[in-house]
Amino acid sequence: MSKAKHFVGLDIGGSMIKTIILDSSGEQVGPIVEVRSHVKDGYEATFRQLNIAIDALAANAGISLDDIGGIGLDVPAPSSNGVIWGKANLGDDWVGTDICSKYKERTGIPTTMTNDCNAAAVGEYSIRHKHIGGLLLVAPGTGLGGGFVLPGGKLYEGANGLALEVGHISVPFREDDGELPDCTCGLKGCLEAWVSLVALRRRLRLELRKTEWANHELNTSDSTIEDKAFQLRTLAENGDTLAIQLFKQQGYILGYGIADIVRVFDPGLIVIGGGLAEAKFREQFMEWIKEGFNERAWPVYRVSPIDPEKITTEFEWATGGDAAAAIGMAYTAQELFS
Ligand SMILES: [Zn+2]
Repeated sequence: MSKAKHFVGLDIGGSMIKTIILDSSGEQVGPIVEVRSHVKDGYEATFRQLNIAIDALAANAGISLDDIGGIGLDVPAPSSNGVIWGKANLGDDWVGTDICSKYKERTGIPTTMTNDCNAAAVGEYSIRHKHIGGLLLVAPGTGLGGGFVLPGGKLYEGANGLALEVGHISVPFREDDGELPDCTCGLKGCLEAWVSLVALRRRLRLELRKTEWANHELNTSDSTIEDKAFQLRTLAENGDTLAIQLFKQQGYILGYGIADIVRVFDPGLIVIGGGLAEAKFREQFMEWIKEGFNERAWPVYRVSPIDPEKITTEFEWATGGDAAAAIGMAYTAQELFS
């Protein structure tokens, strides 16, 4: 007789693939298995890596591949219903390919696919077992990603899998010259053009031209702007005025943008992901987010109009770390295929 079905989560990153397996009761079995992703070598190379990981997961769980009831796969690129539509850091042959169907054909196992931020949003939801409202994940990184889980645990992807491109909502903030900043997507004035690593580099470059920072240590250093931007976190942790000013601006504008997303979805819980979840000054950063949020959100989105003790929009840091996406996809596979 076959054992109860297990479910696998596969989180494909730019350099590594993180994978986990859940048993039929939703408990993780064995450790997270990591393999290199080889995404630049084409999707077939990555499929081979996925198979290596799945074999290891099945061995750890003491099951055969026939006992895997479903696979949840996530990719570090925009995708719609299993098809990649933006290259990001992937090899050329990924774009326009129905990755989900192709992988399902290879394995013969039911498979679902989404992007990494959606997967992390489900992961954060599934970690909070008792949470019954919705959950909006906003994750500042190189860009600004988002994901939204409906009350009850279902991922909201929109009619075409194109929802929650939160980095590209419009915000009314302008540079000192009065212009809206260019976004990597080709538009101007996007939230991501203020809240991302790319934005941090641009803002730092502009600030360092000002006379008030002429003697700042980053102005007297020969490092590249990329290196200088990476140093900002440590500088902020040590109280550097310029670094704090730059992060404060990012936090404030992020909160301001979140207020508009909350006005549309009313998720109840905002989870902030990305690298800043590990920063020593993260509590301060969260306060800046709330300042921006409070500037733009109506009072009812902060406290209940009938119960002043009840917070209507909670803010939390992500807790799943870099395993959240893999956890989320295993959970999604279980929800869909069990
Ligand atoms: Zn944009």
